[in-house]
Amino acid sequence: MLTQAAAKRWDVVVVGAGPAGTLTARGIAQTGASVLLVERAAFPRYKVCGCCLNPRSIELLGTAGLGSLLKEAGATPLHGVTIAAGGRRSAVALPAGFALSRQVFDAALVEAAIKTGVDFLPQTPAKLEPSTNADHRLVTFRQGSQETVVEARFVVDASGLGGKLAADLADEVSPNSRIGAGVMIDHAEDDYPPGIIHMACGKDGYVGLVRVEAGRLDVATAFDPAAVKEAGGLGPLAVRILAEAGFPAVAGLEDMPWKGTPFLTRRRESLAEERVFRIGDAAGYVEPFTGEGMAWALASAVSVVPILQRGLSGDTNGLAGEWVRAYQRQVARRQMICRWTSRVLRRPRLTKLLVRFLALAPGLAGPVLRGMHRR
Ligand SMILES: Cc1cc2nc3c(=O)[nH]c(=O)nc-3n(C[C@H](O)[C@H](O)[C@H](O)COP(=O)(O)OP(=O)(O)OC[C@H]3O[C@@H](n4cnc5c(N)ncnc54)[C@H](O)[C@@H]3O)c2cc1C
Repeated sequence: MLTQAAAKRWDVVVVGAGPAGTLTARGIAQTGASVLLVERAAFPRYKVCGCCLNPRSIELLGTAGLGSLLKEAGATPLHGVTIAAGGRRSAVALPAGFALSRQVFDAALVEAAIKTGVDFLPQTPAKLEPSTNADHRLVTFRQGSQETVVEARFVVDASGLGGKLAADLADEVSPNSRIGAGVMIDHAEDDYPPGIIHMACGKDGYVGLVRVEAGRLDVATAFDPAAVKEAGGLGPLAVRILAEAGFPAVAGLEDMPWKGTPFLTRRRESLAEERVFRIGDAAGYVEPFTGEGMAWALASAVSVVPILQRGLSGDTNGLAGEWVRAYQRQVARRQMICRWTSRVLRRPRLTKLLVRFLALAPGLAGPVLRGMHRR
């Protein structure tokens, strides 16, 4: 397949088979373009994520003609969130949502993309070569010791959080940024019922637990890196935060095969360059408490497709600027609520007060949730 990939000039090469890359690949292939989707991991793959799809994600999937994908994949419907801090808890009703593991969700999206004619190349790390030609870009693909250079009229960088598609890509990492971590538990006791997002908040970070398909328990966290060191690892800190918040212990959590992420809150200096567009987490991310990352990824995919289409028609004037404006409109502005929430969560007394307040008046969470979920 590597030799076949190099034998032709692709209209679009999309790097990264997360929701951003796969929905873009599918969208542009539907317009008749030749599209190669390349992914460094073997698929399906585990990804650290809270696995919760909010109403905006559901709506974006519906608009893309994938409205039945979540139910068909066995996603668990969500109806509420329980937030705990310092031994206090509050339960807030959620507008419709679903929980689905990223193994299953991302693989279902890839399958849908392949059905529209996208060529998919897993287990193939890609590297963008410096621009040398005005009408195409070169991307190097690697499989084991074999390397091949592929030509594309446009490249979409959907390589995720801290993705380094090009060696000289700069990231502005927020000074107080937390790191993410997660683990998927195939068999866990019944303390955490399905349909509810369980969020334990502490001064050193937060731990989210949710049942996904087949009753598996997804655990996803954001931690202060110094606290991880002090606690002796990701597992011990998760155990401590759950206990301090007053949530039940999860058997064996401390010693599970945790996976960490790079720093979470970051902004990409350049969202576009000559014939390259950065989308999803590769464009920037804000820590995950409000659980909107997949909606941002899907929204950026939907917004970049018409820009690619214009480029493929031969009109390449001002494409980069157009993408920056579309990204600001569709994603960056929406990240504001998330930024403010993460600031509140760094103040333990304020967090406790808020949890108490929500316990007394859960309806007051409504305006914030609506703001996060509006189109
Ligand atoms: C702890 C945590 C909890 C979260 N909880 C939620 C939640 O509940 N709900 C929600 O909506 N969002 C959540 N998010 C955010 C969500 O996971 C991301 O926003 C989303 O995955 C972004 O999608 P993406 O397609 O941009 O990137 P990704 O899903 O990260 O996909 C990028 C892909 O690119 C591949 N790749 C990277 N480099 C290369 C390369 N050089 N060559 C080839 N392939 C490459 C990677 O292997 C990966 O598969 C959470 C994030 C974290 C860290």
